[in-house]
Amino acid sequence: MHPTQTTNVMSEQADVIVVGGGSTGCGVVRDLARRGLDVVLVEKGNLTHGTTGRMHGLLHSGGRYAVSDQKSARECIEENRVLREIAGHCVEETGGMFVKRPEDSEEYFQKKLEGCRACDIPAEVIDGEEARRREPYLARDVEKAIAVPDHAVDPFRLCVANAADAREHGARIETHAEVIDVLIEDGEVVGVEVEHDSGPGKRVHHEPGTTEEIRARYVVNATGAWAGQLGEMAGVDVEVRPSKGVMTVMNVRQVDTVINRCRPKGDADIVVPHETACILGTTDEEVEDPEDYPEEEWEVDLMIETLSELVPALKEARTLRSFWGVRPLYEPPGTGTDDPTDITRDYFLLDHDVRDDLPGMTSIVGGKLTTYRMMAESISDHVCEKLDHEAACDTAEVPLPGSEDFSVLRDYMDEFGLRSPVGRRSMQRLGSKADDVLKSVDPNPVVCECEGVTRAEVRHAIDEAGSDLNAVRLRTRASMGNCQGGFCTHRIAAELTQEYPEPVVRDAEDELYQERWKGQRHALWGRQLSQAMLNHLLHATTMNRDGDPAGLDAGVDFAAFDAGADAAGDAPGAGDGSDAGTAAADGGRAETDGGRHPNIDGGVDGDR
Ligand SMILES: Cc1cc2nc3c(=O)[nH]c(=O)nc-3n(C[C@H](O)[C@H](O)[C@H](O)COP(=O)(O)OP(=O)(O)OC[C@H]3O[C@@H](n4cnc5c(N)ncnc54)[C@H](O)[C@@H]3O)c2cc1C
Repeated sequence: MHPTQTTNVMSEQADVIVVGGGSTGCGVVRDLARRGLDVVLVEKGNLTHGTTGRMHGLLHSGGRYAVSDQKSARECIEENRVLREIAGHCVEETGGMFVKRPEDSEEYFQKKLEGCRACDIPAEVIDGEEARRREPYLARDVEKAIAVPDHAVDPFRLCVANAADAREHGARIETHAEVIDVLIEDGEVVGVEVEHDSGPGKRVHHEPGTTEEIRARYVVNATGAWAGQLGEMAGVDVEVRPSKGVMTVMNVRQVDTVINRCRPKGDADIVVPHETACILGTTDEEVEDPEDYPEEEWEVDLMIETLSELVPALKEARTLRSFWGVRPLYEPPGTGTDDPTDITRDYFLLDHDVRDDLPGMTSIVGGKLTTYRMMAESISDHVCEKLDHEAACDTAEVPLPGSEDFSVLRDYMDEFGLRSPVGRRSMQRLGSKADDVLKSVDPNPVVCECEGVTRAEVRHAIDEAGSDLNAVRLRTRASMGNCQGGFCTHRIAAELTQEYPEPVVRDAEDELYQERWKGQRHALWGRQLSQAMLNHLLHATTMNRDGDPAGLDAGVDFAAFDAGADAAGDAPGAGDGSDAGTAAADGGRAETDGGRHPNIDGGVDGDR
């Protein structure tokens, strides 16, 4: 029996329960709800809590798989085209290149080109000079490149848009609800038991620790790298092979195009520009537990060392943070691949009735974010067949909420008189909601300069997410830039004060700041260390948050703090605090870091 504080068993009967709120689960709940089924999605964290919130953000053209896995390559280009149509506000059309250095094989370059053409992926060969004209920071010895339609995708907006559409079609989206048991009666899956937690934010959550039985005619296991754990609850084997990868976020966009190394396979071979940052990635190493694996410094070093062979400016650039994600790879039994990079990126439906003599549940495993919609369509077709429900899929044609008319975004720039980078980026984030959100009669200052987020946008996110400032961050990108929240978390938190009592505001600010700190621990050197020291000094001394009188009620021992120069030494990873603090203050926030877009930056993690 799972240790719960109280047990409060209720019962709801749905058509389908989808377990997992990543890109796959969100895609499935949207698809099934649009087909008229009564669907419940349960997710143990927030949406994108798993791998989807910790991926590279590349909307694959399929070029990456054009030699080794042409089925995946074809699926990628098909879905790449679909997502640019239905989710314009989640995709930045950056374009991509596979670049060849002198030591990279000419034979492989030709294979890549032929593979792209065989898979219907538009591919144009350009010489080194043209490649550097498009991307001036590319290494001088890049000989040539293949230009392909790789793009950047925002997984957070994508999942939220899918879940929102599902809810508009009657689905129940239950986050902070962990499945703790799969209910089986007469040899058939009939539902799940979930334990509710108290997620932050506006949405009404169930009492923490209470459990609920949700019954349904069918259960979809869309728990990605956790699929084996859910399978175990149902007494079946789901052989996922979780494989971890690191990503390192740089403070500016050293490139505006997705840069891939043109070589068979290897670690550290892709740079993805994302919003105001570049994300370097990645590695591929099998792990036992998707939630407990080492995060090692050498992995981060490898990203910078290897990718600076393609973009030398990366070596001197400022690193903001690193994060890790775990791929939900699946290999059909008996394949026996040792190297995780050899495991197919294709997806599989495991019908437990056929496989394990357990009707009522199917697992969907493998795949990638780029093909999430296609995966959702496949499993939704399968579930409809099981339930004898006839309804066609329309998710490839119907735009997601917020992306109906992308051109409208540009017009808003003039209309609202916003400085173009701020205006353009607000509109891209907000999509067709921009009109309502930005047409504010109140003053609308920029709250987060690094990411160009205005008060109106923060307030709108608070209206949607409540006091959960991490949810506000994911909606707006506020606090995700160079300063990693050092200059803006208190301003963002201040926007809560009209509606929420002081303790809630303080907790919300702490949670946001802690979340930012978590990823910086892996990037504390050079200028980001100076920034972290400056942030610490600002918060611990100038704003006196270490000695906050409100903490007295909580029994904080302020004698333990010395708010003077020593405070700098309290920051984890700090050396000589006062020097570092001074250096950061001198550098100030006008630092341009040698990137070509000064004063801008960001990242994309759930943790990003
Ligand atoms: C390092 C890395 C880089 C990548 N880069 C790219 C890329 O650039 N482009 C691309 O297309 N793909 C990329 N991928 C692959 C892509 O991110 C994943 O395939 C995709 O996000 C998986 O989504 P999912 O919904 O299947 O799984 P997840 O996002 O992991 O969702 C599963 C969810 O199930 C929830 N869950 C688990 N157990 C329970 C339970 N008991 N009860 C309730 N909920 C539960 C988890 O909290 C989680 O949120 C990358 C993956 C990695 C690891």
